[in-house]
Amino acid sequence: RYTALREEPAKTTDGKIIDLRMNAGLMADLPSLTSSGANGVGLFRTELQFLIRNQMPKRSELKNLYSRVLEAAKGKEIVFRTLDIGSDKVLSYMPNINEANPALGWRAIRIALDRPSIMRMQIEALIRASNGRNLSIMFPLISQDSEFYKAKELVDRVLSGEKRLGHNIPNELKVGAMLETPSLAYAPEDFFTAVDFLSVGGNDLKQFFFAADRENELVRRKYDTLSSSFLTYLKFVINRCKELKTPISFCGEDAGRPIEAVCLCAIGFSSLSMRPASIGPVKHLLRRVNLEELSNIINSEIKGVFNHTPEPLAENLTDLSESIKVNKSDFGIAVDPDVDRLVFFDENGEILGEEYTQVFCSDFVLSKNKGDTVSTLSSSNALKDLTISYGQKYYSTPVGEMNVVKKMKEVNSIVGGEGGGGIIYPELH
Ligand code: PEP
Ligand code: MG
Repeated sequence: RYTALREEPAKTTDGKIIDLRMNAGLMADLPSLTSSGANGVGLFRTELQFLIRNQMPKRSELKNLYSRVLEAAKGKEIVFRTLDIGSDKVLSYMPNINEANPALGWRAIRIALDRPSIMRMQIEALIRASNGRNLSIMFPLISQDSEFYKAKELVDRVLSGEKRLGHNIPNELKVGAMLETPSLAYAPEDFFTAVDFLSVGGNDLKQFFFAADRENELVRRKYDTLSSSFLTYLKFVINRCKELKTPISFCGEDAGRPIEAVCLCAIGFSSLSMRPASIGPVKHLLRRVNLEELSNIINSEIKGVFNHTPEPLAENLTDLSESIKVNKSDFGIAVDPDVDRLVFFDENGEILGEEYTQVFCSDFVLSKNKGDTVSTLSSSNALKDLTISYGQKYYSTPVGEMNVVKKMKEVNSIVGGEGGGGIIYPELH
C-alpha cells in the first residue's frame, strides 16, 4: 500500500526531513530494509540470537551472523545493541535468578558489566564481522554515566586486542547509549559529549517514568506518551542533546505509531526507528504534517491551555466542534468498542494504523449512518462521513484534520484522564 512512498523522503509540509529506520533482530528481518525503504537499522536487538537458542552462541557463530547482516545492509548503518537480557528476556541456559522486581533488577548493561566475558565475546564478534567496515554499537539501559564509561573501556580493550592480533578494525566505530531510565537525562555534560549518539528506548523509559510495568496489562496502557509530562521530559532531553551536540533518536514502539511519531518529530526528534511495517504509515502521515504547527499545539498542551476537568462527553464534543478548525479531509478514526481499539484511516478509507487504547471505546460508537452501529470498520469502508453517537446524540463528520494532540488530549481528559492511545477526533457538525 505504501510502495509508492518507498523511495520518497519523509519530508513534512514545512520541509523537515525525518530519518526513518527500522528495528530488527534476525537475519530474516534484513530484506525489509529494502522493501520498507528504511534508511538503516536504528536498533538491532542482538539478544534475539541468544533467546532462540538453548545454549550460549559461540563467537564464530555470532561473527558469521553479524557479518551477513552487515553485508545485507549494503552500507546502510546498522546499530547493534549489545546483549539486553534479564527482566522479560530470560535465557533458558542462564541461572534463573529470583527477583522481586526484575524490570528494576539485574538486566541489560548491569549483567554485561558484572559478567563481562559475554559482552567481550560479543564485541569481538562484532569487530571481526565489521572487517574494516563502519560499526555502530550501543549499550542498553545505561542509567548513569559510569556504566557507559566502563562499557566503553571494555570496547576499547577489545579493540586494542583485535589490533594486536592483526584483525581488521572498523573504519569508523560509533559507540552510543540507550536512554531508558529518566536519570540519564541528568547525567553530567561530559557524558553527552562522550557518547557518539543516544537512542531513547521509549518502552522501558515510559515504564520507569510512569512507574508502570510494561508487562502488566492492568497498567501498561494507562499512561500516555503524549501526556504533557512525558513530552516535557523528552523536550528536556532533546534540548540537552542540542546544546551538547549529541545526535539523538527514538526507537521504542511509539516511534511506529503514526500520531505519536509525528508528535515526537514535532518536539525535535529527527530520527526514528520502528518496526518495518510502520515505516509506510509513519512516512505517509509525516508528509502531510506541518511540524511547526504541530509543535505550537503541543506547546499549548504543555502549558495546559487545553486541560479540562471531566465533563459530559457530549457537551465537550459540541464545544470542540467550535474550537477545532479543519484544514483538510485527511484522515479519521474508527472505534472498535469490543477491544478498545481505534483504527486510523486516510481519506480513501485505507488503514493508517491501529491503536489499542484505554480510552473507553464503549463510550463511542462510530457509524456510517445515523444510529446504525458498527463495531469494526474494514478498509473497504470509504469513510467520507462518520457519525459518532454518544448517548442519544449523534455527531456526523467528514473525516479529517490533523489537530491531533489537542483532540486526543481533550478526549483523554473527558473520559477521565485515561491515556494510552491516539484519537483523531474529526470536526463535528
Ligand atoms: C525500549 O525499551 O524502548 C527498547 C527499544 O528496547 P526493548 O523494547 O527491546 O527493551
Ligand atoms: Mg528496552
